[in-house]
Amino acid sequence: MELSEEVLRTAHMAALRYLGSLGERRVVPDSQAIAALARLRQPLPDGPTDGSAVITELDEVGSPATVATASGRFFGFVVGGALPVTVAASWLASAWDQNAGNWILSPIAAELEDVAAGWLLEILDLPRDAAVGFVTGSTMGSFSCFAAARSALLTKQGYDVKRRGLRDAPRLRIVTSEELHPTNRAALAYCGFGLDDVELCPTDAQGRIIPEQMPALDACSLVILQAGNINSGACDPFEPICRKAQKAGAWVHVDGAFGLWARASRATRALTEGIELADSWSVDGHKWLNLPHDSAIYACRDNSAVQDVFGVEATYLVRNDRRQPNTFTPELSRRARGVEFWAALKFLGRSGVEQLVDRCCAHARHFAGGLSGAGYEVLNDVVLNQVVFACGDEAQTRRALSSIQESGITWLGPTTWKGRFGMRISVSSWATTEHDVAQSLNVMVAALDRSSEPLYEPAVRH
Ligand SMILES: *Cc1c(COP(=O)(O)O)cnc(C)c1O
Repeated sequence: MELSEEVLRTAHMAALRYLGSLGERRVVPDSQAIAALARLRQPLPDGPTDGSAVITELDEVGSPATVATASGRFFGFVVGGALPVTVAASWLASAWDQNAGNWILSPIAAELEDVAAGWLLEILDLPRDAAVGFVTGSTMGSFSCFAAARSALLTKQGYDVKRRGLRDAPRLRIVTSEELHPTNRAALAYCGFGLDDVELCPTDAQGRIIPEQMPALDACSLVILQAGNINSGACDPFEPICRKAQKAGAWVHVDGAFGLWARASRATRALTEGIELADSWSVDGHKWLNLPHDSAIYACRDNSAVQDVFGVEATYLVRNDRRQPNTFTPELSRRARGVEFWAALKFLGRSGVEQLVDRCCAHARHFAGGLSGAGYEVLNDVVLNQVVFACGDEAQTRRALSSIQESGITWLGPTTWKGRFGMRISVSSWATTEHDVAQSLNVMVAALDRSSEPLYEPAVRH
């Protein structure tokens, strides 16, 4: 098989057309695009198909059925867009097709990770000698840190979990709050913890743990805090909790999937005060840093716990004294995730990251102001990039939400915040402009007017 420049060019052109269409197209696919997905239900081809035809079909059927999370008008979940420079870096990295598991297999992947790791610790102002692993998402970041915590806490109890497994292990306590992101529960389960191991602390009106109301910690406690509540954007009070934990010999992990980036801006850094006292942190690249999926890192103060848990050894896997990426992550073979982190940080620099964070926060405040001015009720203190709002009861809020979603102009999703049904805005894309915010606000305000109209079912539908 020869190198087909044509197939690569076809994909390149399709990608440029797609990105160029984001300004005008609907943020969610219409029913026609969804129906057209049926075209993919073909029998397995008996023989080859021309490469360019494969890409053309992918574009024709696929592009219209995407959710335009890369556009500036998508505010559902916290997904971010992808900075063009990171898309480009990812294209080149795909062409390289490096296996980033081992330095010998890819010096460039290992070195880029090493450089990016240092930059990330610096911009997030975390201990500079922390171990950094490049993983698929915050779920796996938390998983990696829980595995390291489990190993370190049990080692201190004189128990070697690597050799003996969990069967006879001393019981560890998981101390956190109901506001914990559900992916952490999954990550805990992957590490062998059950729901009965979890102790939930009360939280305040913004979803922050109340330190005075936490149970006493001990050397068998794994405390999980969060930077960036998925509804309110609030951060737990790290300093008092980390100090308590340090005294008790407990381990503190911070889920900072998007909120850890608050630390990269002088305007929001105070939210993260004391976070550097924790033992481990996870943060996504594919959310607020605006890298393509799937990309995240974790950082862990205790490098030896990390090395104890991860790393595949075999005589054929030759090691040198440089960074061996697989000794930081659950995987052996994987793509070179450091490439996009490096490209984003090189492109943005410290000030660019700060501006990205500040711009998203300003948009969120703008939304909050516009929504409450129009008669919506904003349910959270807008301290970061998150806005939760409602109008009247659940039925009325649902009506407003449906008409916003159906507009195709903008998209956001439902949530329940402190027992109240609401809608949730997350501003986390580099691509969102003031115009996007104004246009989306118009839709939301019009939906409010419509939501209070009496519902009636016309006898005959046309
Ligand atoms: C998104 C998110 C996660 C999970 O991250 P993934 O990248 O989806 O694995 C965990 N915690 C918080 C607070 C999140 O916002």
